[in-house]
Amino acid sequence: MEIKKGIAVSPGIAIAKALTIDSEDYRIPRRQISPSQRMTEIQRVRNAFKAAIQELTGLEAAQEQFQQSKIRDIFAVHLRFLKDRSLRKQITDLVHSQFVTAEFAVSTVLREIASTFTRVKDQYISERAADIYDIERRLLRQLLGRKREDLEHITEEVAVIARELSPTQTAGFNKRFIKGLATDAGGRTSHTAIVARSLGIPGVVALEDLTETIRGGDTVIIDGNRGIVIVNPDEQTAGQYVEYSREFEQLGYKLDAIREKPAVTRDAVKITLLGNIEFPDEAELVLQKGGEGIGLYRTEFLYLNTDTEPTEQDHFHAYAEVMKLVGSRPVVIRTVDLGADKYTQSKRLAPEPNPFLGLRSIRYCLQNLTMFKTQLRAILRASVLGQVKLMFPLITNRQELMQAKLILRDVMEDLDEESVDYDRNLPVGIMVETPSAALTAYTLARDIDFFSIGTNDLTQYTLAVDRGNELVSTLYSSADPAVLRLIRTVIQDAHKAQKDLSLCGEMASEPEYIMLLLGMGVRTISLAPPMIPEIKQIIRSVNIADCNNLAREVLTMNSERQISNFLRDAARRILPEAF
Ligand code: PEP
Ligand code: MG
Repeated sequence: MEIKKGIAVSPGIAIAKALTIDSEDYRIPRRQISPSQRMTEIQRVRNAFKAAIQELTGLEAAQEQFQQSKIRDIFAVHLRFLKDRSLRKQITDLVHSQFVTAEFAVSTVLREIASTFTRVKDQYISERAADIYDIERRLLRQLLGRKREDLEHITEEVAVIARELSPTQTAGFNKRFIKGLATDAGGRTSHTAIVARSLGIPGVVALEDLTETIRGGDTVIIDGNRGIVIVNPDEQTAGQYVEYSREFEQLGYKLDAIREKPAVTRDAVKITLLGNIEFPDEAELVLQKGGEGIGLYRTEFLYLNTDTEPTEQDHFHAYAEVMKLVGSRPVVIRTVDLGADKYTQSKRLAPEPNPFLGLRSIRYCLQNLTMFKTQLRAILRASVLGQVKLMFPLITNRQELMQAKLILRDVMEDLDEESVDYDRNLPVGIMVETPSAALTAYTLARDIDFFSIGTNDLTQYTLAVDRGNELVSTLYSSADPAVLRLIRTVIQDAHKAQKDLSLCGEMASEPEYIMLLLGMGVRTISLAPPMIPEIKQIIRSVNIADCNNLAREVLTMNSERQISNFLRDAARRILPEAF
């Protein structure tokens, strides 16, 4: 039995057989082999080359009849690489000298070559890096077999174990069979974690070297409440977990029972609870859990499962589906937040060096106007179907906001000319996710109807800590005094300017923050649908006077640790079962 500690990102308990997967997009974990295994691994390298050459020769021959000379040329280049003996030798030498697996050696050598190509100034040569990645994937497919397809066609219950999972991979998980997930990498607010939470799949991330210690088929317990993974548990531990899992399920049923009850504090202050969604059908779950509308629709997920850009009709259909499900309740549609860890990097030949500080979100939209306008047209068309609000993400300054609004006006004029109906009073808001937006909230307020505080990014950018990087995950905390001060500024400025304000980062789904947020003046929050009942239970157990006192005290504290402990103790007193 081995116990590993990581970060709990999605609540619940999973007990299942491990299915380890290696992503095509990420580094293969380094697995050490014994000296006696080296010959087997070297033979695996040779077999993979042989099979890849055979596969490519077949593909090249198939192109003959179509006279597709360009494609044939590409296959010919790939074949030349694969037949290069010195390349194969570099890989087998690595297996031999470093005692590593065939897949690790293939990936390391080919990625090194690709990165050398990328650095060459000549565009033709630098673009060849994509070919090398392609060859790497072809060889890895041979070495890793059909594991990816296994995942799609899975018919038994498993816990997925991986070095890293992309939001796209996670979004494609079949909840019926995938009972839990655990990864070496990741942070609490990484998009993969957010998707897992939305799907209600228990998850633990930042386990660092789990993939090196676990084998496919091992029994594994994923404790998404405490952030623990237990590999091959002994009988007693397994028994305890079966019991604990049952209790946790009971708590879920108990909480679901308060669905119809209002989210009001004991002293009758109404709090609006909305849900965050990534896919239209999740709107149903939001209502099922007692949410009163959609506070954040992450529309970029429309892009993540396709190779082609969604059309205006694709957008419109998705929005119309949400509207149909929620009726007259509010729906905040966020314009696409592509970039950083979502979509654009894998489409680029040379990834951006600092994608979270790069061409992301509203910046990406403002540089891809056709795409942006397509989405705005669809949102405007959907605005007549119910109570739609439009929100721009990652605004960093007023100029950006004015530019986005100008484009929105352009699109409105186009629709006017075409006599297409839309809501002329469509509320327009922004997410406050950067320190610059928080510090200038009062000025930005003049040109918007509402704010939504995105604490996931606001925490990342305030503390300069990558939200998805397990190496710095202990530094990532929304309880940091600097983050709290920025949040307070935005709340106060929104109140002064009489603008609506909500908070839609993961902070809203963490029980320990609720009293603080209420005490700071937040009255609307949007969160992962499965967490709505628990948060509602907390709201119904507190009164605002106590929250105000708690917030006042917290805001005098200077250390993150002191604040975290203080908040956890207070929340534990309110809902002991959740801790
Ligand atoms: C946030 O940054 O807090 C947020 C809600 O947006 P996302 O998690 O999609 O980046
Ligand atoms: Mg964000």
